[in-house]
Amino acid sequence: MTSSKSAIYWFKNDLRLTDNPAFALACAGVDCLLPIYIHDEQEDVVPHHFARVGSHRKRFLQESLCDLRSQLQQHGSDLFETSGDLTKIFLRLKVELGIERVYCESIVAPEELRQLQALKELGIEVIDLWQSSMLDPQSLPFAPEKMPDVFTQFRQQVEKHLLRFSEPVAAVKSVPQLPKQEVLFHSPINYERPKATDAFIGGETCAQAHLRQYFERHLVDSYKQTRNQLIGMDYSSKFSPWLSLGCISARTIAKGITDYEATHGSNEGTYWLWFELLWRDYFRFLHFKYGRKLYVSSGLGNQKSYPFNQEKFERWVTSNTGEPFVDAGMCELRESGFLSNRMRQIVASYWIYDMQGDWRAGAAWFESQLIDYDVYSNQGNWLYIAGKGTDPRGGRPFNVKKQARDHDPEGAYQRMWLNKTT
Ligand SMILES: Cc1cc2nc3c(=O)[nH]c(=O)nc-3n(C[C@H](O)[C@H](O)[C@H](O)COP(=O)(O)OP(=O)(O)OC[C@H]3O[C@@H](n4cnc5c(N)ncnc54)[C@H](O)[C@@H]3O)c2cc1C
Repeated sequence: MTSSKSAIYWFKNDLRLTDNPAFALACAGVDCLLPIYIHDEQEDVVPHHFARVGSHRKRFLQESLCDLRSQLQQHGSDLFETSGDLTKIFLRLKVELGIERVYCESIVAPEELRQLQALKELGIEVIDLWQSSMLDPQSLPFAPEKMPDVFTQFRQQVEKHLLRFSEPVAAVKSVPQLPKQEVLFHSPINYERPKATDAFIGGETCAQAHLRQYFERHLVDSYKQTRNQLIGMDYSSKFSPWLSLGCISARTIAKGITDYEATHGSNEGTYWLWFELLWRDYFRFLHFKYGRKLYVSSGLGNQKSYPFNQEKFERWVTSNTGEPFVDAGMCELRESGFLSNRMRQIVASYWIYDMQGDWRAGAAWFESQLIDYDVYSNQGNWLYIAGKGTDPRGGRPFNVKKQARDHDPEGAYQRMWLNKTT
């Protein structure tokens, strides 16, 4: 048995050592620490005949885990990666290593809350810290459960109280030693690398490099003008994949904006990038207020979604809707695991309003495909477009032809992706 000062650090969507207060707390509080990552068996459940975690997401996750492992090894520790049923894994760790305390980040989505409850029922002490937002929920001028529903009102309150971001914490300097027992499991899982773009490489090292380059290249200056474009790496910040797995924190990016402003002055671009990160916080905090309600068919409204139709769904996901702009977007998503915000809005709107599809199936497809899949942002945005969330306009149907004329007037985007499938 290990000493009473042993614990597990359970990495979830916080695959970094810098600005990771939960990990820092664990390191400060124990003599022995076992860092683990678990590929939950639940993730293999196939809701609509497709993998819940598609190949692009798997690849990005694997790269991120490799980077984390090598950083932990540099500190004399390691990352133990396994897959299976969470409860069984924790039970085994409790029995075989005698570890009864788990530290982790807190995620307030229904599945993740159920997982923590299951651990507590095993008699495990769970110390979880909220750390995935730019603003500390405690610093808000209202209790998160009582936040304004409308984004503009939320933003105005935040700005009135001059809230920008909470200060990131430094990287841990030393990581406690591993428990003495023989290593129980150490099984990096090998994934096939898809032939997609290598523009995004997972891990904290690449995330920090991307942050540096983004500001060194002054891309933020033109962010407001370019953010609705469709082609290339530079039209928007592309922080989302790293943010989604926590390879970098929102606070670190917000501090990057503030540091940039201190040297180069503030401008529309710096403000707008912060503003978008505030949207990210907003969708997080809505979970404190509405929780499970955000996951039911009618969302916060009283009208159920359209029923699921497999044939229509197949046409949408395989780029066979007959609407070239939508088909191009769905192709980009499949081929690259990424899609601009504008195209996400267009294909989502087309699925919900033109094809009368179940918004939850659309959200599930995005979950499977997007390398930046984030439970709060995905759920929140789908509900918003479906008019079942907090949009004061009651939903966002997009006129696809007009969108194509406005955002792809020469058809370059459509040619680029549609030629790929033929
Ligand atoms: C239907 C739909 C589903 C979406 N699903 C996801 C998802 O699973 N994961 C995800 O990270 N984003 C999601 N978004 C939001 C948005 O499209 C992406 O965050 C953005 O396109 C990522 O590219 P970027 O990092 O270059 O963004 P930028 O435009 O550079 O924005 C900077 C950051 O602000 C945040 N942000 C920007 N727009 C939004 C938004 N509308 N909602 C929440 N945060 C935002 C992101 O963290 C982003 O990285 C979704 C949007 C729609 C319409």
